[in-house]
Amino acid sequence: MFKISIKENLEEVRTRIDKALSSKGKTVDDIVLIAVTKTKGVDMINEAIALGTTDIGENKVQEIQDKYEMIEGNPRIHMIGHLQTNKVKYIIDKVDLIHSLDRKSLAVEIQKRAEQKGIVAEVLIQVNVAEEESKFGLKVEEVASFAESLLSYPNIKVKGLMTIAPYEEDPEKTRYVFRTMKELYEEIKSKNYSNFDMEYLSMGMTNDYEIALEEGANMIRVGTGIFGKRNYN
Ligand SMILES: *Cc1c(COP(=O)(O)O)cnc(C)c1O
Repeated sequence: MFKISIKENLEEVRTRIDKALSSKGKTVDDIVLIAVTKTKGVDMINEAIALGTTDIGENKVQEIQDKYEMIEGNPRIHMIGHLQTNKVKYIIDKVDLIHSLDRKSLAVEIQKRAEQKGIVAEVLIQVNVAEEESKFGLKVEEVASFAESLLSYPNIKVKGLMTIAPYEEDPEKTRYVFRTMKELYEEIKSKNYSNFDMEYLSMGMTNDYEIALEEGANMIRVGTGIFGKRNYN
């Protein structure tokens, strides 16, 4: 029977990352590889952590709550999915980075819950470059003013930007998405806003991470490429 090898998959992904970054003189150690563990059991997650995974990503609050206590080795946990306002309270002190800040009501709630816990929540602003109906995120032209509005939230620290590119069989077709994001990232970074610390450009998934890295991603989110196909049943 076919069994996926997380070890071999991780080795392959790391090798491919090195290759994609070689022309920049960088390696996998210069970026953050998030192993996306949604739908995967804790055994697989802990195996990946034992193999050197430092960062894991989940897209559902419920899954973070279910798995949190059983995850070993203290990896950084990333909330990469759409976040409902009424669920912020369940994860605010469990996750290290929220990738999906995309509206004022969510910022208000994150501010409130972070303040209650006495922490500063680190977030990325999610951008929907291709303006796909099925995806969340701000339009490119909305990002600068939204970012500026976050200056009045002392318990929110903006660490960068995130996008999910449209799925294309030929990922070359999404290169413009990553290029647009890199420009936007540099634009916002250059403003040196006081409570921002622009450090991460989170883009690239199993199908397109090499293109994303070539265009300047320094944080990628890989699920299928590490853990195999997901079964949603
Ligand atoms: C599921 C998911 C990923 C990983 O997708 P793969 O194609 O399995 O690598 C990355 N980012 C987000 C936001 C996701 O929901």
